[in-house]
Formats: sequence, structure tokens, C-alpha cells
Amino acid sequence: MAKRDYYEVLGVDKNATAEDLKKAYRKLALKYHPDRNPGDKEAEEKFKEAAEAYSVLSDPDKKARYDQFGHAGVEGGAGGFGGGGFADFDLNDILNSVFGRGFNFGGSGGFGGFSGFGGFGGGSGRSQQRVQRGGNLRIKAKVTLEDIAQGVEKKYKVKKYVTCKTCHGSGSKDGEMETCGHCHGAGVVVEVRRTILGQMQTQSTCPHCNGLGKIVKHKCPDCNGEGVQLSEEVVTVPIPRGVAEGMQFQLSGKGHAGPHNGVPGDLIVQIEELPHDTFERQENNLLYTAYINFVDATLGTSLEIPTLQGKVKMKIEPGTPSGKILRLRGKGLPDVNGYGSGDMLVSINVWIPKATNKEERELLEKLRNSPNFQPNPSKQEKGFFSKMKDFFN
Ligand SMILES: [Zn+2]
Ligand SMILES: [Zn+2]
Repeated sequence: MAKRDYYEVLGVDKNATAEDLKKAYRKLALKYHPDRNPGDKEAEEKFKEAAEAYSVLSDPDKKARYDQFGHAGVEGGAGGFGGGGFADFDLNDILNSVFGRGFNFGGSGGFGGFSGFGGFGGGSGRSQQRVQRGGNLRIKAKVTLEDIAQGVEKKYKVKKYVTCKTCHGSGSKDGEMETCGHCHGAGVVVEVRRTILGQMQTQSTCPHCNGLGKIVKHKCPDCNGEGVQLSEEVVTVPIPRGVAEGMQFQLSGKGHAGPHNGVPGDLIVQIEELPHDTFERQENNLLYTAYINFVDATLGTSLEIPTLQGKVKMKIEPGTPSGKILRLRGKGLPDVNGYGSGDMLVSINVWIPKATNKEERELLEKLRNSPNFQPNPSKQEKGFFSKMKDFFN
């Protein structure tokens, strides 16, 4: 018999929401549950068919594969469900997900008749119970060169999962816990599958208790049993000296709180370096361009150079050519690993006036043919470009 379309089985269209699917499946499961239809083979088949359809369509990943490839996209090969070629499926899970655990379908023995499907895993496997870990929290820290030079502490208001104040993280309204019926307290479930290579046994974290082995009896109403709740919090992030654009570091344990008093995640901080009005950064060096007039360049002067640590006086020797690069040692940025500091490199730019008045022109005309104003570069000066390359290497 050809398999019916899953949407047709549930009586919904392709655009049905998760809620629509759940409703449709609930209706069918109640109608065809074997406890309500004892001995009715057809009802049992319909019951299984609906569960199978819902198990696929309620899982976004499987649904996507089903929408694209049809039944072939979600069939797990041999074995499994009623010989229908459907493997990856747990009927009890499906029922629990829409009715909650222990829902009574009005028959004699609950749905004990289905304990054989997938819900394997007695109390045998004594593996350790897992602690749930909170998610990582990410922050982009925008920093200026001043912040980088000094190191800084930044505060950010973030939305973050914190331990529930009502239940102190237990997730339980009254502190009562019960052994997880799905894994019988082991925290893991063992699944046996028939494959072409024979039986394969896989062990995975119990999806009901998330590996805790216990579930809360009465959920805390403020966190819905999770033990964590979303809250707004101010986090303090110390920015180390010397960081650079794109660097990332983590503050362990400063991320989201772990459900059920688990381990908190990390806070991951990514550095975004803001451009500076005055300086350009080159690794740990800072570049600064100083403009001087050609009289100062010719006769020499003293300049005030801004640095991140305040102003510094710098001597300009007589006869300083445009393009000369002067170095202020240690006035760059600190190395992030503590290996000293970079330098400030001051590039001297001789300013040539764009306009002149009559008086200026008369003064300059006197110099036009003056012997020392005739270009006469030395060999060293001619090699300016190669020198510049040396400087930056
Ligand atoms: Zn709570
Ligand atoms: Zn469990």
C-alpha cells in the first residue's frame, strides 16, 4: 500500500503552523488511540500513521526534508515502525510531547501497549548524569585607541538567562523531583537499531530529562520548570591593554546560566576598534602626520605632537625634508601580550601655500634664485623610497 501524504494524514495544508499540526495530531490521537478502540486494527493503523506524520512534520529538520523529497527524505531504512520502513521514531515521545506525560486515554492500562516502541533503556546503563550547560553570550566591544592604550572596563546591559529567583534554579515549584520515566534515572537512552550491518546500539542523552535522570514533579511557574529565566543584566567586561580589531576573548562562566543549576556558558567578547580622528594604527605603532611650513622645515623648529599619553615636544632639525619620518619611542600602543610598547611615527609634511599675497610673493621672489634654494639632492635623499620601505619593515 502506498504511503499517504503526511499533510493529508493530519488533514492540514502545507502552510500549517506548529500549533495547527499539534492540534490536528491531538485530535487524531484521541480519536484512534487503542485504549479507546480496543481490538480495532484499523484504528490502530490510523493511530500509528498520525503519530508518524506528526513526528516528521513537527521536526523542522525532517519537515524540510519531507517537503523537498517526500517520504524518501525521511525514511531511515530497515526496521522500525510496523514494517513501514520508518525507523527514527519514538511513539511515547510523540504522545508525551502533545499530551504531557502520563495522560490517560481512558482505557485500562494507559498506553502501556506501546512501551515497546523506541522507549528502550532500563535502569541498567549506569552512566553518569549530565549537567546542563548554559549558552554562550556574545558581545561586540567597541573600543577607541585611548581605551586600548590604557585598558578599560566596559559595562553592557544584556538580555541573559539567569538562575530563576523563585525556585533557585531547581525548576520545581515545591522541590519535589521524580525519577525520569523515560530513562529510568539513567540520564541516557540506549537505542537498538537493525541495520544492514546487524544490530547497532547507540546511546544518547535522554531528551526528557536532558540527562539529569530526574524531572520536576510540579514545574516552577516563573521559569516553566527550566530553572532559568530571561533577565536584563549589566555585565562588566574588562578590556585588556593592546587589543586589536577582530580579537576575541572569553570570560568563562559569564554567559547564560545553565538550566537546573547547571554550568553557566561563557561570555565571548569580540573587539571592534573604532577609527581615530588623529592617529592611524599600524600593529602597535601609531602613525601621525605633522604639517610644517617650509620656513620651519628649512630653519628648524620645535613641534608639539599629540600622543595618547598627552602632548610631547619634538625637535625639527634645520633642513628637514617633507616625508621624513621621526620616531617617538614607546609612544605607540602597549603589546597585548605585555611585550613592551610600539612607537609613534611622525611623518613630516612640508606645507606648500596654495595662495600668496603681494608681500609674500615679493619676499619669495628674492629667494627664487638664491643659491641654497636650488634643488641639489644627495644620493641618500634620492634613495628616499627604499629608505621608507626599510622603515616599516
Ligand atoms: Zn523557577
Ligand atoms: Zn530521562
